[in-house]
Amino acid sequence: MSQPISQRDAYLIINAGSSSLKFSVFCGAGKAELDAVLSGQISGIGTEPKFEAKDAQRRVLADGTVDEVEPGDRAGLLGFLLSWMRHELKDTRLVAAGHRVVHGGTRFAKPVRITPQVLADLEGLIPLAPLHQPHNIAAMAALAEVYPELPQVACFDTAFHQTRPWQAQTFAIPRELTEEGVRRYGFHGLSYEYIAQRLPQIAPELADARVVVCHLGSGSSLCALRAGKSMDTTMGFTALDGLPMGTRPGNIDPGVLIYLMREKGMGADALEKLLYHKSGLLGVSGVSNDMRALLDSDSPQAAEAVELFCFQVAKQATALATAMGGLDAVVFTAGVGENSAPVRARVAEKLAWLGVKLDGAANRAKATRISAAESRVPVFVIPTDEERMIASHTLDLLANATGAAASAAPLPVAAE
Ligand code: AMP
Repeated sequence: MSQPISQRDAYLIINAGSSSLKFSVFCGAGKAELDAVLSGQISGIGTEPKFEAKDAQRRVLADGTVDEVEPGDRAGLLGFLLSWMRHELKDTRLVAAGHRVVHGGTRFAKPVRITPQVLADLEGLIPLAPLHQPHNIAAMAALAEVYPELPQVACFDTAFHQTRPWQAQTFAIPRELTEEGVRRYGFHGLSYEYIAQRLPQIAPELADARVVVCHLGSGSSLCALRAGKSMDTTMGFTALDGLPMGTRPGNIDPGVLIYLMREKGMGADALEKLLYHKSGLLGVSGVSNDMRALLDSDSPQAAEAVELFCFQVAKQATALATAMGGLDAVVFTAGVGENSAPVRARVAEKLAWLGVKLDGAANRAKATRISAAESRVPVFVIPTDEERMIASHTLDLLANATGAAASAAPLPVAAE
């Protein structure tokens, strides 16, 4: 039997990076009633840890350095977070933690309860995501050290894309490399899964539709959704592929990399730095990786970077429409997609030939439906919520758990 889920059950959601750990806390008795009650981050891990937290109304609850823990001690820092939560959420019990994990490989097609075996399997995937996976794993191991009884769940950015047909998952390279795992995985899956659930609530007539979802943020990708399932996506083996991003180039002829290796003597580390940190909007503009700064800038290079971005979004959206055999709706989400009316307008103009037309006022007002009445293709702005998706998966997994998961005894957060 699983634990009965009470009104004040809390779920800690963790998104761990190299030097920061973002967290949020959801409370509620069931998926439909999950309330986001806290959010924040520990930054400066390894140097000078800083702790920031806000409540659901975005009021600042904590903002300061963490002096009592060694800067690189992740378990100590998570212990600090748990004691702070105990103080903040007095009559709530923490029942589980859910982690955002970048890579599930071909093995993990859905969220999974973390066990020593799962941790070992995830370590085996580090070569596929060396910049992110180790930090995701470190956070799980640190939390297990400081709170071994707490059930932990891993939710994968890749899992949602496992429904794509074979040809959307495969590079045209020798088969043995594909079999070894060199294939197109796709990312931002938790965001797309959230949108796939949310869109039919907003527009029930689109439940079976062919939708291009534009997740445009500091990392950007597109997903072809048919009847709520991923049919294709622009990211591939890594989160470098597809659209230009804040500091990543998106699609690039692999011949460029051979050229840089031969002619400029660049090795893997130098290429990694160029492709993850110096390219994209920053590389093209020389001004910033932030879309707001580019839109506000008078620099012609900044304008070119914005144009290149919008051009690629529209061009690759068209390719995804082909992957679904048509286009019935477009959704914009994430930092740029949710907040930048000029970017949405320029992408929509380039998709006019497919029957996309915006209502300028609705677009500027960030209405939920921003297309003109006569637009053949309806267009929406839907804020994404990856953390809620993780909380909902974590709750589901525990509610359906048997054996080890059900027997885990959650400690009351109030008890020291
Ligand atoms: P995300 O990664 O989804 O948090 O998105 C972060 C990015 O959203 C930032 O780097 C900004 O470039 C972009 N952004 C946020 N607000 C705006 C805005 N009002 N206009 C344009 N871009 C924005």
